[in-house]
Amino acid sequence: MRNPRPFDSWELAVPALPARSRLYSLAPIGVGTAFVEGLTSYVSRLAAAHSVSVGNLVGRELSDNGPGPLPLVHPSKRLQNGRSLFHGFAGASYSLNGAGDSPRLWIEVLEAKTCRRELRVLTLLPFEEILPDTKLFRKRRAWCPDCFRGWRKGGDHLYDPLLWSLRPVSFCPLHRNLFRNAALVQSRQPPAGVLHPSRALFAVPTLARSSIPGRSLGERS
Ligand SMILES: [Zn+2]
Repeated sequence: MRNPRPFDSWELAVPALPARSRLYSLAPIGVGTAFVEGLTSYVSRLAAAHSVSVGNLVGRELSDNGPGPLPLVHPSKRLQNGRSLFHGFAGASYSLNGAGDSPRLWIEVLEAKTCRRELRVLTLLPFEEILPDTKLFRKRRAWCPDCFRGWRKGGDHLYDPLLWSLRPVSFCPLHRNLFRNAALVQSRQPPAGVLHPSRALFAVPTLARSSIPGRSLGERS
């Protein structure tokens, strides 16, 4: 007597699905290296990935639909400027990459929205016990044009490393050249009414964007 062939069977148990994130679970760049991305850069890239402005991402999604209003978002300003659609976020300085309650709250909201768990390494929170939090950050953006050029040439994502936001660091450890500084560029070319990438986190995306129309921060002036 031949052995009967068993029928194929289906596994009916529901597989364990990972948690779904409301926003893209964008991976931060350079984690574990000296060129780890800064939190301000991560927020800019997250907004760009969703094709929305930083202001709308921060004001309407992270703050309005989060556990509570975020620091640096001012809902009351929506009524003061006469534009009812204003998101209430004007921008943030590099101190958002530091340590303290404000970065901690931003990270809590961002991790809840993206299901990431490592965003604190984009700030100085891992070093809060040993580093001072005052006068550690630049007021205006600084960047290495060669880094931007290299990433653009290689088809890599453009971003601002956390290192660039620190005032004591004045040159690129990779290319050995001094940073370009938004304050210097602005003093030579004061473009009235034209966006200038001087702030770490602006309401509209500023990653690698120049004040000169059609130019980017990786181009030689
Ligand atoms: Zn460089």
